[in-house]
Amino acid sequence: MPIVTTQSVVLQVHRYSDTSKILRLLTRTHGPLSVIARGALRPKSRLSGLLEPFAEGNATLYLKRNRDLHALSDFELIRERQALGLDLVRFGGASVLCELVLRIAPREPDELLYDTLVSGLDHLLQTSAEQAAGVSAARIWQLVSFLGFAPSVDGCIECGRAPDPDQPARFDLEAGGLRCARCAAGGRALSPGDVADLRALVGGDTTVRPTATQLALLTDFIRYHASEGYHIRSLDFLPTPAR
Ligand SMILES: [Zn+2]
Repeated sequence: MPIVTTQSVVLQVHRYSDTSKILRLLTRTHGPLSVIARGALRPKSRLSGLLEPFAEGNATLYLKRNRDLHALSDFELIRERQALGLDLVRFGGASVLCELVLRIAPREPDELLYDTLVSGLDHLLQTSAEQAAGVSAARIWQLVSFLGFAPSVDGCIECGRAPDPDQPARFDLEAGGLRCARCAAGGRALSPGDVADLRALVGGDTTVRPTATQLALLTDFIRYHASEGYHIRSLDFLPTPAR
C-alpha cells in the first residue's frame, strides 16, 4: 500500500457515517481519486474543518491497488477558498469548474489540468464582484476547451469565413460553432455584439460582462457536448446576471 503526498483540490465532499467523509480529489500526481477521511468529522480531528469543496492541500494518501477508494491520512492546507461560497456567482463558477473535472476529466494525471483548475479557482477568489460573472464564463470556456470540447468561434463552421464584426451570426449548437449570416440555417441568432462577446470569452477575456445569452450559450454547449450524459448539476447555479 504505497503512501504518497501530493497537492490536491477537493472537488466534492460527502458525509460517510457519523464521523467520516468521502472526498473526490483532483491530485497533481495521480489524477482524480476518491478517498475516505476516517474520523474527519470528529471535532478533535486534525482534519476537522479542512476538507471542504475548493480547498487545496498536500494530501497524504494510502493508495490501495485495484481499488477505487483510497485512504486520506493527512491534509496540510495550502489554501481554503471558503470565501468562494459567500457569493453566488463565484460559487456557481467554481462549482461548474470542479464538477466538469469530476465528470469528464481523464483518469490519468495531468499537471496542466491541475494548474488550469487551480488558477481558475484563484482567479474567481481574487476578482471583483462586478467581474465575477465574466471570470466564471471565461474560465469555464477555458476548461471546456482544455478538456477537448473547444467551440469553433474563429470562422464559420460551413464556409470558414472569419466573423464579420458588422453582421449577425448564428450559433449552431449541434455542430459546435458559429455560422455566418450567409450560411445561417438554424441555431441561436446572435447579434454582432453577442458574437464579439462570445469570441472574447472563449479567448479568455474576463472583462466581458456576460449577458443571459452568453450564459445560455455556455450552459447549452456543456449540456450538449461536454457532459457525456451526466447532468452537470452546478450549471443550474450559474446565475443569470442582472442587465
Ligand atoms: Zn459561412
